[in-house]
Amino acid sequence: MNAIPTAVDLARIADRCVRCGLCLPHCPTYRLARNEAESPRGRIALIQGRAEGHLEDSPVLGDHLAHCLECLACERACPTLVPFGILMDGARAASWAAKPPWRRNRDRAWLAFLASPTGARLSAVLARLYRYSGLARLVAGSGALRWHPLAARHRLVLQLAGPPRINPPPGQTETTRGPIGLFLGCIARAAQPGAIAASVEVLRWLGYEVRLPPGQGCCGGMHRHHGLPQDADRRLETNARAFTGLTGVGIASACVAELRTHPPLGETQEICRFLADLDWPIIPPQPHQPLLRVAIHLPCSQRNRLRDEGAARDLLRRLPHLELVDLPDNAFCCGAAGTYLLEQPTLSRTLLQPKIDHLAQLGARVVVTTNTGCALHLAAGIQEAGLAVEVLHPVQLIARYLNRRS
Ligand code: SF4
Ligand code: SF4
Repeated sequence: MNAIPTAVDLARIADRCVRCGLCLPHCPTYRLARNEAESPRGRIALIQGRAEGHLEDSPVLGDHLAHCLECLACERACPTLVPFGILMDGARAASWAAKPPWRRNRDRAWLAFLASPTGARLSAVLARLYRYSGLARLVAGSGALRWHPLAARHRLVLQLAGPPRINPPPGQTETTRGPIGLFLGCIARAAQPGAIAASVEVLRWLGYEVRLPPGQGCCGGMHRHHGLPQDADRRLETNARAFTGLTGVGIASACVAELRTHPPLGETQEICRFLADLDWPIIPPQPHQPLLRVAIHLPCSQRNRLRDEGAARDLLRRLPHLELVDLPDNAFCCGAAGTYLLEQPTLSRTLLQPKIDHLAQLGARVVVTTNTGCALHLAAGIQEAGLAVEVLHPVQLIARYLNRRS
């Protein structure tokens, strides 16, 4: 379990920062603002000042902390190993405790809705209504959305309203391995049904018995990063019960990273790495198959929390017809960051733009990413820019190849 740090704990952790500034060039918000308070070092000083009673809580202080993506690029760059994620989660727990009760109740209900399978299903239904009733076109045509906070919801909703992308199974191979428990998460059920179906297909093709444990739920990451560690811990405990006796495999890198913080779920595997490290039947090139250029987007959770930058590339190397290119600037967050894309729409959109510009230049027909929020955020930006680039989970490319052969 992840205990709630006290003010004394926060001050002690913050004290490990030697103010060297080596993290600053790695911080996406500092890169935009060039303001110390928007840097990791500045945020650490703010948290320490508040924890030691030298600084009052204020809207300005709250904004500097809220602008942090928790991408952990700073933590990775820090030579003295300041655990920035623990510090920021602890600071957010302190901010949560200072909220008036009505705001705590409202925000807790909203997070519970987002994290529930019902919430995900309902969001998808409402999103389809919004899109196909013509309301979305009316709203977009009005021009009222530009940089408005509602624009983020509009963009996200359009991605949730896409048609289901579930492929027919390529045929069950004899079950010789497993069982595997596939972790479905919350929003991924509505946003990435194609990635879930593809994962089941590929695992079965490799001979695994695949189970979808019914008692599983949200990993709790959203709650932890909003300052609700006890709610987050309860969700981890629920998942630990659901996955008892199973090897857990997840398709979203952020969820896998969160699950791994709980010792009973510490062995949870990220699906690209899991598949990449298996023995595979040789996949021969197919005659006359054109080369497909695929851009690889690297979520911060894959890079800075799982510390496994090569998983998608190692997996996709199996397919002989792919030309893999890393998205330039992969070291910087795309701005999705859980619910950040809803809560900080302007910053989030600004951080996304370089990725969209690079995609426009790269000439890739597909961009792959291992995290659900990043996939939605990229797809929205691509759609707005009018690019013909498909956003997929890497496993979907493998499943497509198998389906084409079957
Ligand atoms: S977690 Fe990311 S956004 Fe937050 S301070 Fe560190 S590098 Fe900057
Ligand atoms: S790199 Fe580490 S020690 Fe240096 S300023 Fe950043 S957080 Fe502090």
